[in-house]
Amino acid sequence: MKEFELIKTYFAEQIVTRRDVVVGIGDDCAIITPSEKQNIAITTDTLISGVHFPENTDAKAIGHKAIAVNLSDLAAMGAEPSWVSVAISLPSVDEDWVGDFCEGMFELCEFYNVQLIGGDTTQGPLSITVTAQGVVPPNKHLARSGAKAGDWIYVTGELGDAALALKHYYGDITINGEVLKTAMARLNQPKPKVLAGKALREYASAAIDISDGLLADLTHICKASGVGANIVLEDLPMSDALSSAVDMEQAIELALTGGDDYELLFTVSEDNKVGMETTLADMGTKVTCIGQLNGNAKITTTLNSKPAQISSYGFEHFSNE
Ligand code: ADP
Ligand code: MG
Repeated sequence: MKEFELIKTYFAEQIVTRRDVVVGIGDDCAIITPSEKQNIAITTDTLISGVHFPENTDAKAIGHKAIAVNLSDLAAMGAEPSWVSVAISLPSVDEDWVGDFCEGMFELCEFYNVQLIGGDTTQGPLSITVTAQGVVPPNKHLARSGAKAGDWIYVTGELGDAALALKHYYGDITINGEVLKTAMARLNQPKPKVLAGKALREYASAAIDISDGLLADLTHICKASGVGANIVLEDLPMSDALSSAVDMEQAIELALTGGDDYELLFTVSEDNKVGMETTLADMGTKVTCIGQLNGNAKITTTLNSKPAQISSYGFEHFSNE
């Protein structure tokens, strides 16, 4: 099958057809008519085989993840996803693989009414670059800056499961049964927190999605906002899978430093706390307060009200002092 046939058969076949897409797949450019009342948020993320996903990851999961990580960035800015384009480099034309990849991609696109409007298809080592665009009302987007000392630190969902799956994949630990299933699903099918991000426009002072690990991503908020933070380790939300698979010390380390969670990390002022919690509870989104921002220039942690040690490499050991 030739390049054009491949594009026509697999990429151009989709259910979502948005009214704001004037020209979709098939010409030299896509043309969209954005609403005058909206700003456009644009993000790009690349996934490289062996770097961003294990080489044996199935095609449907790769398709899902390529879209999910980009929608997660839009969610972190409070933007509503609308259009994506996909540049893919494939070692060979494997129609079954491309079909499964598209299934994973389109499932998520359909759920959020996102249209694939173009891309590029080339031969080379497996790599996927997605550009996603979304809309957000003027002055309503969330940013890493804007957090203030005294604001509360929150995360959606649970942390550390994707890192648990990676540890298993690399042979550092062995998990099986339901625990393995849960962890692998978190690694391969992350659920971008699109609706939560949109709701947080009204409440959050700053936000970021957790792709590199809680500590690393909280550092971005602290630097951009000029604040410090304390995290209460016993409050970190963890799945039963994680708590049952490793001891508490290791679970905390994975929750703090493991990447690929694609949860939202955000800050909320005292005044907005109740409103935010009520709204997100109504939506069925779990949120957990994990600490508070302060005026110090660093991130500290406590366990049961006592200081706990962390290093730049992550969590080191518990301090008994
Ligand atoms: P050009 O040579 O003008 O860049 P291409 O031949 O690369 O155009 O692509 C033809 C059409 O197919 C364009 O509309 C392009 O956006 C679209 N396209 C190519 N690859 C993909 C892909 N993987 N997913 C979606 N659309 C694609
Ligand atoms: Mg052209």
